[in-house]
Amino acid sequence: MKIKHSLIVPCYNEEGNVEKFLEKTKDAMKNYTEDYEIIFVNDGSRDETPVKLRKLFNENKDIKIKVVNFSRNFGKEAAMYAGFTQAVGDYVTIIDADLQQDPGYAVQMGKILDENPDCDMVAAFQEKRKEGKFITACKTMFYKTINKVTEVDFIADASDFRTMRQSVVKTILALPEYHRFSKGIFSWVGYNTISIPYEVKERESGETKWNFGKLLKYALDGIIAYTDMPLKVPMYAGVLMGALSVLQFIIFFFVDVFTSASIELGYIASLILLVGAIVCVFMGIMGYYIGKIHTQVKERPIFIAKEILSYEKD
Ligand code: UDP
Ligand code: MG
Repeated sequence: MKIKHSLIVPCYNEEGNVEKFLEKTKDAMKNYTEDYEIIFVNDGSRDETPVKLRKLFNENKDIKIKVVNFSRNFGKEAAMYAGFTQAVGDYVTIIDADLQQDPGYAVQMGKILDENPDCDMVAAFQEKRKEGKFITACKTMFYKTINKVTEVDFIADASDFRTMRQSVVKTILALPEYHRFSKGIFSWVGYNTISIPYEVKERESGETKWNFGKLLKYALDGIIAYTDMPLKVPMYAGVLMGALSVLQFIIFFFVDVFTSASIELGYIASLILLVGAIVCVFMGIMGYYIGKIHTQVKERPIFIAKEILSYEKD
């Protein structure tokens, strides 16, 4: 059986959304294609999401539904990866379960791929951000920084909401990295991408899983995954600090020889503290990288699926 379009839907505590999501998707796909599959990835939800998904699977045999149940919460990146391993469609879309991203856009993206054989991926970007000014400012700063320090072009406002051809999916699956940062992966793999604007809706039910701390960690992970520049900073800093210490020695030497002033101990103490702090920061940066290498060498799986429900293949 040929599948034209696969939709990957990461779900973490989305009990209030999955049913409506299915209805809206059915509606959107009606005039487009019958050959589509919906892959719900239940990312270790603690609410009724798995129960609701099982019910949807059992009661909608006319629609090709797969449900991947994780053994615990592995995060949206792992959920998307798991979805890719299951998706057999010519086109594959990643879409949130909370209906902030209208399934109608998936159809629109599919049609763009239909009409443009040279285009490999269609990415939707948020036209207007519906979030606080502070978070928006932080995100702008993040994109400016990451674009300066990495070779990969990160497009501001690009989201995971996108549709790609199966060839792109195969390439993404071939990247075995454990710490996945999709925004980087999508741009690193290259391919011809068309961007379309989309209007982000309010969350249908439940709450966002992001807070400032999580966003900060996500941003740091992105930078660490795509550049080793921070590892090189200590060398430059070391050279600078060495030059400064020679200069300081010369100044102190003249102060000592030509004046009767004694050099204040407090001043020296704070200097020692400063140098100590700088060394600690750089050790911390190295620790961060070593930590990532540590998890990667363990070669742990990106996700553990305890159960996969799948439609009958005929
Ligand atoms: N999600 C997930 N695992 C997580 C966190 C989120 O699968 O650990 C899913 C979530 O269910 C939703 C999508 O990722 O379908 C986007 O999450 P959310 O709506 O919280 O992010 P936002 O839209 O606020 O950026
Ligand atoms: Mg959302």
